[in-house]
Amino acid sequence: MDQKDIITHESALEMLLEGNERYQSGGTCSSNPCPSTISLDSGQSPFAAFIRCADSRVAPEIVFDQPLGSLFVCGVAGNIPTAEIVASLEYAIAALGTKLIVIMGHSSCGAVTAALADEDARRSLPGGLPALVERIHRCTTDLDMDSETALDDAIAKNACSAIDQLLDMSKVISGLVETREVQVIAGVENLKNGRFDIVRRAF
Ligand SMILES: [Zn+2]
Repeated sequence: MDQKDIITHESALEMLLEGNERYQSGGTCSSNPCPSTISLDSGQSPFAAFIRCADSRVAPEIVFDQPLGSLFVCGVAGNIPTAEIVASLEYAIAALGTKLIVIMGHSSCGAVTAALADEDARRSLPGGLPALVERIHRCTTDLDMDSETALDDAIAKNACSAIDQLLDMSKVISGLVETREVQVIAGVENLKNGRFDIVRRAF
C-alpha cells in the first residue's frame, strides 16, 4: 500500500515529534543514503508539508530526523503563506495525499525581529523586504512591545496567524481542514536545543 494511503495527520504528527525527540537527544537515525541505494525517482509521498523560514539554521528534514521523500518543504523568510507557497501546499495535499501542514517558526527569527522595528526602520529596508516585513508586522500590533518576551511572542503570533491566512487563501485546504481530513499546525523551534513546540492547531 502506498504510504499516503496509510498515514493520517495524527500519525504524521507523531512521526515528526518522535523525530524531533531524536534530534534533540543527538540520536538521529534517518541519515540519507547515497542516491544509488534509494529509489527517489519513482515518485514521492511526503507525509507532512511545511512552510519554514528561509533561515539557514532551520531545516525540517534534520530537525525532525526524516529522510528525503518524507517532507514537502516550502521556505520563505518569516514563514508566511505567499500565493506561490499556498499553491505548492495545495499540490502536496491534492496530488500527493499529504495530510499534515506545519507552519514552522523559530527562535531568534531575523524577519520577525525586523517586523518589530519602528516604521522608519522597516521602510528603509532594501528591495522587496519592506512589503514582506509589513505582512509580519500587521499580526504583531496587539502585542506588548515592552515585554521581555516580545520577540518570542511575536514569533509565535506570526506562526499562529499564518494558519488563518493559509485557510483564507485556500478553499482546497480549508475545505479539507473543515472535514478534518487535513490538519494544520503552527509551531516554533527553539534554536538553543532544537525543541519544536506546537503553539496552535487548526482544530
Ligand atoms: Zn526566521
